[in-house]
Amino acid sequence: MNNLRFDALKKIAQQTSDRFHPNPNRLELFADHVLTDQKLSHYLSKTAFTEMTKASLSGQPISRSLAEQIAQSMKIWALDKGATHYTHWFQPLTGATAEKHESFLDFAKDGRAIATLDGTQLVQQEPDASSFPSGGIRNTFEARGYTAWDPTSPAFVFGKTLCIPTVFVSYTGEALDYKTPLLRSISALDHAATEVCKYFDKNVQKVNPTLGWEQEYFLLDKGLVASRPDIVLTGRTLMGHGSAKGQQLDDHYFGSIPTRMLSFMQELEEESILLGIPVKTRHNEVAPSQFELAPIYEEMNLSVDHNALLVDVMKRIAGKHNLEVLFHEKPFAQINGSGKHNNWSLETDTGVNLLSPGKTPMSSLQFLTFFVTTIAAVLDYQDLLCASMMSASNDYRLGSNEAPPTIISVFIGEQLTKVLTDLQQVSKGKLSPEEKTDLKLNVVGKIPEILLDNTDRNRTSPFAFTGNKFEFRAVGAKANCAKPMTVLNTIVAKKLAGFKTAVDALLEKDAKMKKDDAIFNALRDLIKEISPVLFEGDGYSEAWVKEAKKRGLYHAKNTPEALQAYVSKKNIDLFEQLSVLSERELNARLNVDLEQYTLALQIEGRTLGDLSRNHIIPTGIKYLNTLIENVKGLKEIYAEEYKSHAKEQMLLIERISSHIAEINSGVNKMIEERKKANAIEDDYKKSLAYCNAVKPYFETIRYHCDKLELLVDNSLWPLAKYRELLFLH
Ligand code: ADP
Ligand code: MG
Repeated sequence: MNNLRFDALKKIAQQTSDRFHPNPNRLELFADHVLTDQKLSHYLSKTAFTEMTKASLSGQPISRSLAEQIAQSMKIWALDKGATHYTHWFQPLTGATAEKHESFLDFAKDGRAIATLDGTQLVQQEPDASSFPSGGIRNTFEARGYTAWDPTSPAFVFGKTLCIPTVFVSYTGEALDYKTPLLRSISALDHAATEVCKYFDKNVQKVNPTLGWEQEYFLLDKGLVASRPDIVLTGRTLMGHGSAKGQQLDDHYFGSIPTRMLSFMQELEEESILLGIPVKTRHNEVAPSQFELAPIYEEMNLSVDHNALLVDVMKRIAGKHNLEVLFHEKPFAQINGSGKHNNWSLETDTGVNLLSPGKTPMSSLQFLTFFVTTIAAVLDYQDLLCASMMSASNDYRLGSNEAPPTIISVFIGEQLTKVLTDLQQVSKGKLSPEEKTDLKLNVVGKIPEILLDNTDRNRTSPFAFTGNKFEFRAVGAKANCAKPMTVLNTIVAKKLAGFKTAVDALLEKDAKMKKDDAIFNALRDLIKEISPVLFEGDGYSEAWVKEAKKRGLYHAKNTPEALQAYVSKKNIDLFEQLSVLSERELNARLNVDLEQYTLALQIEGRTLGDLSRNHIIPTGIKYLNTLIENVKGLKEIYAEEYKSHAKEQMLLIERISSHIAEINSGVNKMIEERKKANAIEDDYKKSLAYCNAVKPYFETIRYHCDKLELLVDNSLWPLAKYRELLFLH
C-alpha cells in the first residue's frame, strides 16, 4: 500500500546528517547582494548622487534623467552579480510578496541581443494586477494598478533576479499594498515627532521609527508533511492527538539545536548576510521543533521589507534541506503557537533613541514625553491595534494561555509606574523652583538608574515596555509587520501632535511660563488619562478579563468584529487627518481582510471534511472490519461462549462505530452551515457566519478523529502523528 507516512518515516530513519558548511568569511560579505547607496555612489556622477540622496531624504520624486542613470547603474551592478532578470518586488494584500520577472533581454537597432533596464522600467511597471485583492478599489474591467519604485529601500539580487522594492497603487493613486500606508505613516510620525523633539533639541530634523521583529516558526520534515493534507493546504494540523510527550518538560527551550535544523539555519544565515538582513539570534523555542530568529533592529521600512524577504528565503532554503517551515500561528493543538514580537522605538537623525532616557534631566523628560504619549495612543486606539493583528490564523493562538489576550494593555514595570504616580502630583501652572528641583533630582533624574535594573518583565502583556523600546507581542508569526506598525505609527503621531498643541497652548496663555513647566503640565494631564490601560498582573487570567471590563477596556470577541474598527468614524478621521489611508482605502482593506478571514475558514472546513471522509473514516472502517473478523472467528471457535472472550473487542467495535458516526454527522452539519454561509452576500455577515456557525464544528469533528487515532491500529493510520512531526528530525 502507498503510505506517505511510512515512506517518510523510513527515510528519516535512514538519513545521515548532511551538514552545511558556512563560509567562514561571511561577515565580510554582508549586503554583498544589495545595491547600497554607497555602492550606487560609485556608479553615479557626484551631482546625480547628491540629487538622489536629497530626493530620498525629502521623499520628493526624482527627475527623469536621474532615473535613467540609476537604472543603468543598477543594470551594470546586477549583471555583474549574475542576474539575468529583474522584478518589481512588492507586498500586495495577500500577505505574500509578489514579483513578476522580466529578462534584461532586448534588441539593439542592428538586431543584436542586449541587456537593458531603462529609467521608465525602473520607476514604474504595470503588473497584471487584476488578481490581487483590492477590496473593490479596482474593478476587474479597469484592472489597472501599477508598482512604483521605493528609493528608500535598496534593490538587491536574490538568486538570479534583481529585485526592486516598490509600492503598489491603483491608477487613481489608492494603496493596494502594505508598503504605501506604512510609508505614509512613517512620514506622519516623523513630522509629529520632530516637532516635539524641537522642544528638547533644535538640531533634530528627522525622526524614524525603528523595528526589530522576532520571528517564531516550526520546522518539520517535508516527507512527513506530505502525508498531511491539512498542513499542506492550511498550514496547520486540523486533527492529531497530542503526543504522550509534548512541551511539559521544557527541554526544548534554548536547548541545543538539532543538527539538521542547524544546518538549515546556517545556510539561511549565510543567504541573509548576502541580502543585508542583519540576523543576530537563533534559538529553540518552547514547543518541540519550534525556533526563533531575530535580527538587529533597523529603520522600519527596511526592517519590514527584510522580514517579508526573509520569510521567502526561509521557505526556499527549508526545501533544500527537505524541511517545511510553518509560519501559522497555531500549527498544533496543546502546544505553543508562533508569534512575531514587534519591537518598536523612535530614533532621531542625531542618533538618539527617544525611548531611552539620556544623561540629563531634560533628556529624561524627553524620554517621558514619548513614553507617555505612546501609552496614551495605545489607550485611545486599542480597537485599532486589535484589528491590526487579528486574523483567522492568529485567533487560534491569542488568549489561549501562551499568547496575550485580545485585550490591549501596557506593561511598564513597578518602578516606572511609581515615576508616573509621582508625576501625577505635579502642580498646575508654573512650578515652584523647589518642586522643579525635586522633580529633576528625585523623579525624572532617577529614570536612567531605574531602567538599568528594570528586570521585572511580564511575559503575558500584549504591549510591554522593555527598557528602551515597546514590544507589541500579540502580532502573529504570519503577519506582515507593516499592518500593526502602520497603526502604531499613526496613533502615536496623532497623540504627539495633540501633546504639542497642549504645550503650545499653555505657553501662549502665559508668556512667563517656562517650556519645561508646560511640558510637565501637559504630561501630568496625559498620565491621569492612561491608568486604565496600565496592567502589571497576569494577562492570561480570567480575573483580568473581568477587571478589564470594569476598566472599560476593549475586548475583541472575534476577528470579523474587531476588523470593524477600521471604519469607525473616529478611526477614519484619524487616518484621513494624517493622510495615511482614506475612507475608501480603509473600506477596501476591511473588505480584503474579511474576505481573507472567510476564505481561510472555508478552506479549513473543506480540508477537514475531505480528510475526515477520505482518510479517517475509511481507516476506522478498515480496523473495524478486522475486529469484526476477529469476533466472527471467536464465535467459530467458542460457539455461544464467544461473548465472554469477545467482550473487549465488542466494546471497541461500539466505540469506533460511534466515533465514525459522529465524524460523519459532524461533517454533514458543517457542510450545511457552510452552504448557508456561502449564500450570504454581505461580507461581514458571511464572515460572522463562518466564525459562529461553521468554525465550532472544527473542534467537535476533530475530537472524534483524535479519539479514533488512539483506538485504531498504528500501522493503518495514514497521517503522520504529532510525536513524529514534532520529535523526529
Ligand atoms: P526578547 O526575546 O527578550 O524579547 P531579544 O533581545 O531577543 O528580546 O529581542 C529584542 C529585539 O528587539 C531584537 O529584535 C532587537 O533588534 C530589537 N530591538 C532592540 N532595540 C531596539 C530599538 N531601539 N528599536 C527597535 N527594536 C529594537
Ligand atoms: Mg520579545
